Amino acid sequence: MRCSSCAAVAIVDQPYRAGHACAEHFRASVEERVRREFHRQLPGFAGGTIAVALSGGKDSAVALALAHRYFHRRPTVRVVALTVDEGIAGYRPRTLRAAAELTERLGVEHRIVRAERALGTTTDEAAAGLPGTIPCSFCGVWRRQLLNRAARDAGADAVVLGFNLDDLAQTVLMNLVRGDLDRLVRMAPHRVPQPGLVPRIAPLALVPEREVFLYARLSGLPFDHAECPHAHRASRNLFREIVWQLEDALPGTRQSLLRTHARLVERWLAAADAGAPRRCRSCGEPSTGERCRACEYLRGVRAAAVPAGGP
Ligand code: SF4
Ligand SMILES: [Zn+2]
Ligand SMILES: [Zn+2]
Repeated sequence: MRCSSCAAVAIVDQPYRAGHACAEHFRASVEERVRREFHRQLPGFAGGTIAVALSGGKDSAVALALAHRYFHRRPTVRVVALTVDEGIAGYRPRTLRAAAELTERLGVEHRIVRAERALGTTTDEAAAGLPGTIPCSFCGVWRRQLLNRAARDAGADAVVLGFNLDDLAQTVLMNLVRGDLDRLVRMAPHRVPQPGLVPRIAPLALVPEREVFLYARLSGLPFDHAECPHAHRASRNLFREIVWQLEDALPGTRQSLLRTHARLVERWLAAADAGAPRRCRSCGEPSTGERCRACEYLRGVRAAAVPAGGP
């Protein structure tokens, strides 16, 4: 199999564009897609602080390496990496080590936010206290809120998330299936500023998961493969399977789901000022209801911790 752009041997096939790429053209094509998305999702960005959410996995490693590549020569731009430590034994300590190795290598400032300190609980502790709840529901809500606070503290103008094409296609489908239009509209990349929320962007949006992995490998980036011990309970797993099956039968399905999302958001924004969050009564963070979901989950954990017959 030869590269579609030169005579070299191809290392990857890209059925969604009916082509193949050699290592050199593959890396260039990833870098170009991500560069364009940075420009498209950060229109008019001339300088400021870019915070990259760094988990220590392959996606955020590539997002940080490419953000650093694009911005480190611009004196008006500061890149900072933010990692949330949710408190998940056997998983987060390993990924934290990979995250620290990458930031040291790139010379990027690295801030770590620990859920135990910020919230008074951890994902492991909450999972044990709320056995009937899928841990990803509260863990994801808490992580997003801690990340937003940390980005605000760092004076960030945008938060870069490592979501790849597969992640985003799954999220679009999940929100469509649940009929959750609010969440569908509020998905990253953010189109309109939302009070209290540092805009989240997803520059890897057009790069399939396996290409992110290949790019990270070919670039020698340190990342950790560890899988969260709670991940098997996530409903996302089902949507991952479905999107894979659809993509296999109909190449281009993932891009098509993203286009559907973009069109829906376009119409939604034209029709109303929907999706504008209010403030949570308890913590003051952005919220769609009276109390934010992070506080609702914390209340649940605290209630579960009160011994029977207690106050
Ligand atoms: S898989 Fe679920 S529980 Fe584990 S870190 Fe991700 S959101 Fe949290
Ligand atoms: Zn080539
Ligand atoms: Zn709150």
